[in-house]
Parts: sequence; structure tokens; C-alpha cells
Amino acid sequence: MPVPDGKDAMLAITFDDGIKSHYDIAVPVLEKHGIKATFFVTINNIGKPGRITWEQVQDMQKRGMEIGNHAMTHAHLGKTLINTKGLNPEIDKIKIQQIQKKNHDLMLFELIAPKKIFEDHGITIRTLAFAGNSRPREAVKLTKENGMLPRVFETGYYSKDDEKSHAKKLDKILKKGNYTILMIHGVAEGTGGWSPLRNLEFFENIIADFTKHSDRLYIDTMAETSSYRERAENSTLTELKNNEYRLDLKNPDTISGAGKVTLALNGTYKVFVNGQEISMSGTFFNASTGDVIRLAPMKETAPEAP
Ligand SMILES: [Zn+2]
Repeated sequence: MPVPDGKDAMLAITFDDGIKSHYDIAVPVLEKHGIKATFFVTINNIGKPGRITWEQVQDMQKRGMEIGNHAMTHAHLGKTLINTKGLNPEIDKIKIQQIQKKNHDLMLFELIAPKKIFEDHGITIRTLAFAGNSRPREAVKLTKENGMLPRVFETGYYSKDDEKSHAKKLDKILKKGNYTILMIHGVAEGTGGWSPLRNLEFFENIIADFTKHSDRLYIDTMAETSSYRERAENSTLTELKNNEYRLDLKNPDTISGAGKVTLALNGTYKVFVNGQEISMSGTFFNASTGDVIRLAPMKETAPEAP
């Protein structure tokens, strides 16, 4: 499935832990470049020294940034969930049930309860990043069941990164068909956050570099890019008659729901969406779930008589 607008690759930039400098430093830099990014915030840290406040969280959303769920207390689930591996399913049946119940309650508290708290503060939550990227399978499943797209892979930028490692990462990010979710904690040395980037100049450089490649790179929030990918993977063309199709969702329960996807054409056609001829960008065009797409072969121009 092609990248939106027929671009080469897709990128979401995410910031973890709700550090004060995300609001003070990162947001203005992103705005300068017209980039929308995702900020993963842990409920229990909001308003603590060095962290963002509820007012700042709300202001970021108002300015077009996405706020994502980064759990209630930042507990690493891989360590906190109790393992039942050594127990015998027959002898320890009750004990296993008790542990599973305890694990489930803990996951509800860490992952699901924050969504409601954010919503009570007017914040829409569509994505989740696990604390410490600790993501047991049952936690990923529960997150999706509760309508949040989990971050299950990422490319990190850390203290040790420099122009050289950035160039390498950028190469990979721009590779045709790639979807990268960038993860940054501290924005610049001395401004708070885990493994901060070496300095503010480096942060500004990498953001400017992504913008420079925006002709090839589709950049948006994690909610938008992950929804796009999920929807694209679940979209299918149902043939209605010859050269006429309907864009359908294979699984109507996808988190992203109905919406726009970019389609690629093989061959030369005029494209009509719901009866309207549409303009193409190269071989690509956009359509939404439920649209009827009709392809009309271009008439070959008859060779001129000698
Ligand atoms: Zn974190």
C-alpha cells in the first residue's frame, strides 16, 4: 500500500515522558517547521518539577500536537506483571487465576485508566507508548481492545547520537515504503529528560533535515500515521463491475476506522471517484472508505495518416 500522497516514506516524531522542555523548546521548533508531533505523557508526573502541567498539555493539543498515553505511573510492565511460567496449570489453577486477575487489574490501571483521566481534561487519546518500551503481548492486546494504537517499534535518538549516526538513520527513514516512529526523550543536554540529545543545535538540525525531505517524507502525528497504516493494511477493493470498485475495510473493527487512503494505478486511466473525475499526482490518487472508483482507459490516439 502506498505512502500518503504517493510519497516514499512515512515518519512520526514522538517525545516521551512529558518533560518541561518538550513544551518550552520542542514545540516552538516543530511549529517553525510546520511539523505535528506526538508527546507521550505519564499521568502521575504531570505538574511535577521539570515536567509539563495540565495547562501545557491542553495548550499543546490546541496547537495541533498529539498527546499520547504513557501510562499512569510509568511502571515497566515486563517487570511488574507476575509471571506464571513456573506454575503447574493443574495443581496451581487457583493461584494462576489470582495472578492473572492481578495482572489484568494492573494493566487496566496503568494503560486504560489514564485514557479516561486525559479525556476528563479535554485531551483526546488515540495512541499509547509503553513505559520503558516494555510491551508484553497481553498488554498490547488490551491497548488495542481499548481503542488505542500502541507504539510497538521505534527508532530512538539518544545522547550518543551525532551528525554521522543521524545521516545513517535518515537514510533508513527515507527508504521507499518505510514507516518510522522516532523516539526522543531529552531534547538537549541540560534541559531535562532521559538520554538528552547533545545540544539544541543538533535537535534543530535533525528536525530541519526531516523538513528538507518533506517532498519524499510524509510527516504527521503517530495517531495519523499509524491510523493511516492500519487503515491501508485493512483496505480492499471490491469489484462491482468491470473497471468499477468500492474501497472497503476488510475488518470494520479497525481502530483507525473509515477514512482516506492513497492508491496506486497500474496503467493509464482516467479515474472517477463517486462519479467525479479526479486529478492524479503521478500514478497516485486518494479515496476514502466506501468510495466507488471507476477507471476509464485512456483512448489511444490514432496514428496520423501519412
Ligand atoms: Zn518513558
